[in-house]
Amino acid sequence: MAEIQPYWKNYIDGAWCDGGAGRIDVLDPATGTVLAAQALANATDVDQAVQAARRVHLSGALRDMRPIERGRLVQAMGRYLLEHKDEIARVLTLEQGKPLWESVIEVEGAALYFEYYGNQASTVEGRSIPLGAGYFDWTEHEPLGVSAQIIPWNYPLEMTARSLSAALATGNACVIKTPELTPLTNAWFAHAAEAVGLPHGAVNILCGLGQEAGAALSAHPQVNQIVFTGSVQTGIAIATAAAGNVVPCVLELGGKSAAIVHEDADLDAFETDIRWGIYFNAGQVCSAMSRVIVHESRHAEMLERAERIARSLSVGPGIERSEFGANMGAMVSEAQRDRALEMVKTAQAQHAGLITGGHALNRQGAFMEPTVLSVTPDMDIAQQEVFGPVLSVMPFRNDTEAIEIANSTDYGLVAGVFTADLDRATRAARHLRAGQVFVNEWYAGGVETPFGGYGKSGYGREKGREALWNYVQTKNVAVRLKG
Ligand code: NAD
Repeated sequence: MAEIQPYWKNYIDGAWCDGGAGRIDVLDPATGTVLAAQALANATDVDQAVQAARRVHLSGALRDMRPIERGRLVQAMGRYLLEHKDEIARVLTLEQGKPLWESVIEVEGAALYFEYYGNQASTVEGRSIPLGAGYFDWTEHEPLGVSAQIIPWNYPLEMTARSLSAALATGNACVIKTPELTPLTNAWFAHAAEAVGLPHGAVNILCGLGQEAGAALSAHPQVNQIVFTGSVQTGIAIATAAAGNVVPCVLELGGKSAAIVHEDADLDAFETDIRWGIYFNAGQVCSAMSRVIVHESRHAEMLERAERIARSLSVGPGIERSEFGANMGAMVSEAQRDRALEMVKTAQAQHAGLITGGHALNRQGAFMEPTVLSVTPDMDIAQQEVFGPVLSVMPFRNDTEAIEIANSTDYGLVAGVFTADLDRATRAARHLRAGQVFVNEWYAGGVETPFGGYGKSGYGREKGREALWNYVQTKNVAVRLKG
């Protein structure tokens, strides 16, 4: 296996730079060994990146380009990622822990955002507003300028791709703050920007500590918009910084998403939803199916099925795991794994039933057994985000109670309804407090469908056409005609 490059730099204004804050070791969570060093940016580096992006914006190089041409460049970035799929996927697995087949899906998913938003670039149209014979009036949408994007470690490629592609397609210049735990794969966005010939400064990629580089970026007075995905606590800090400069932000925070499974649901099919919903990326997914609320008549059967799925997964180093859908890799770090284990212990102290799992694997690396718990809605584990491979199963008696339980957390990212009765599913969808409702398939939807939270899951929408409006502002031009 080829070695990976030992030192990774930041990319600012078209140049690869050391970081003013030194370096950080990036670990392979499957072995605990050092994979590479990553340059760490300080506030001065952040300022340079923002100034570079601002220069590009003011130059008009992106802003004034014909949108269809901008779209072509964005699409070409996606193709670049696909051309380098195997090497990117390998580094992603090494730095993040997910199985190789999941990393391939993530690279393809990242490329799809560039294809989709590249296609959308020329669809951001204004309108003409009738004001009577003496006037001509129209609206147009202008890019905001400098888009700052602060990225989490669970999907470092897809999360950057999601916001970067839409921001570029609408004519913004971007500064990306990559996550400290998984910064490496973001380098390919810089390579892609160079390869397609974007002006230097249009895409800046830097890693730095959240408290230092992240905080400096979110408080920078020349940033015009912030996109953040991550924890609620950090989201509040970023929104506060954004408010200080009166700039908009999009927050995609955590979740405690529930699947409601009715007595008439197809439980054979639902086994696939368990596999993907909670064990994909070892449960480190903001929209993970972390709760199953099942009709009491099928509660025992659900526990049996969930146990069987959890036990069937082979867990180990992601780099050795390429069998689609059948395995789970390391969690991102031992700290994240230990936090999840601690939450399981607390659940047991609160009398949750441990159906299976609940332990670290007896080997080196940040591995945790796929876990199933039998819980009640009032327990901490049924309310708090674990961000690990832990499924909480609880029974309901009637439709009203199912919705009440589903809506009983502070979050509201996604929800699911599983039933043969589409009327019942449609009624439930209306009452569920969640930004997206899946009926009969967890993670139905795609880059085309808007995604975002109610409540503490955040605000603003990513994906789909809705997300384009995050990156533009509306100008109205009212003309008084002569005569
Ligand atoms: P985090 O919110 O602290 O970090 C996410 C990003 O924000 C990182 O790039 C980090 O450097 C940056 N950051 C941290 N503090 C900052 C600050 N003060 N100002 C600006 N940027 C800052 O998340 P974490 O510590 O990596 O994980 C903690 C928990 O967050 C997880 O256990 C999980 O529950 C949740 N999380 C959620 C998602 C999601 O997709 N919703 C993703 C990652 C983590």
